Amino acid sequence: MNVLVINCGSSSLKYQLINSDTEEVLAKGLCERIGIDGRLVYQKTGLDKEITEAAMPTHKQAISLVLDALVNPATGAVSNLSEIEAVGHRVVHGGEKFAAATVLTDEVISAIEECNDLAPLHNPANLIGIRACQELMPNVPMVAVFDTAFHQTMPDVAYMYGLPYEYYEKYGVRRYGFHGTSHSFVSKRAAEIVEKNYEDLKIIVCHLGNGASVCAVDGGKSVDTSMGLTPLEGLIMGTRSGDVDPSILEFIAQKEDITLSQVMNVLNKKSGVEGLSGVSSDFRDIEAAAQAGNKRAALAQQTFAYRVIKYVGAYAAAMNGVDVICFTAGLGENDSKIRKMIMKNLTYLGVQLNDEVNDATHGKEAIISTADSKVTCIAIPTNEELAICRETVALV
Ligand code: ADP
Repeated sequence: MNVLVINCGSSSLKYQLINSDTEEVLAKGLCERIGIDGRLVYQKTGLDKEITEAAMPTHKQAISLVLDALVNPATGAVSNLSEIEAVGHRVVHGGEKFAAATVLTDEVISAIEECNDLAPLHNPANLIGIRACQELMPNVPMVAVFDTAFHQTMPDVAYMYGLPYEYYEKYGVRRYGFHGTSHSFVSKRAAEIVEKNYEDLKIIVCHLGNGASVCAVDGGKSVDTSMGLTPLEGLIMGTRSGDVDPSILEFIAQKEDITLSQVMNVLNKKSGVEGLSGVSSDFRDIEAAAQAGNKRAALAQQTFAYRVIKYVGAYAAAMNGVDVICFTAGLGENDSKIRKMIMKNLTYLGVQLNDEVNDATHGKEAIISTADSKVTCIAIPTNEELAICRETVALV
């Protein structure tokens, strides 16, 4: 079955067409600057990337251009639209309503709408993509796959904040967690690699990208994760602060004479390793600066790694043990130096780094701990699109 996977943001849209039988990507790309001017990037597997400047005032027009590209007689991936048999949509926030992926119906769309409050930047954009696809492919079954769903197994002790209980009851203020599709995919893959039952393992997944989170997976269920009500909590990220003392918000608002929403903008967009280093949100730039002697860049790397070390320790404690630690996403898959900084501080858990394999592992699967390490550490490339494709197929 050919599945179109759509990840729709407010002004951009990523897509992949995947053959679910072979799990091969037939074509992929993105639409950028939707509603501004518009650029379509399209690549059929095996051919060069095509970049076309094309007006796309709305998401519907953007998706229409994607569909045209997919059936283009010269470079298309399928000969006509009937060969696209299902669409899987990434949806950021499913609140407490969705503990699993769900076939999209009018009721489901209304329920997603009710979660918009919790992710005002993301969910409305996801819904626009869903509606546009439904208009253009009215008879194709569609599935919503939620970033939050995997974490709905968290126990209340993990998801409650120490706030008045009524905020949870009235507004749903609790920890939800994100990156669920990735944490689920990677932890399942880890069980296959170590050839043990998923249900028998305690796994910690470190998803370290521009956005970053750690997840504790006990017996195949997420029992805690570092992101909270929103993706701002937890690790220090590219531009997000992660955990801070909440009093800092008022303190900075007063000192800098800015509003609360301006402070939130700083916490989301001007903090993290970018704010710390003053160099960039991209770890490759930070590494280059650190190598050149920039002390703030080195501090940003160390502070990032230190926060991961603390979360791994917390989750080993929460699960009363850990069998496998996984590293994934841009940094976790590629940056052997950061992995080493983290693993060197986990010897108390019995983690033994295999330096040679770690140094040689960039963007591929590898066990990066030694054979006698008590905890198996594995670099595993994440593949959220494939995970969405699999969930979609399972439901349609
Ligand atoms: P997101 O999906 O959250 O935008 P990614 O998972 O793509 O983020 O990760 C982006 C981060 O991964 C960037 O900070 C980038 O510097 C880092 N990264 C990507 N490739 C490499 C590499 N080869 N070496 C070190 N870091 C890398």
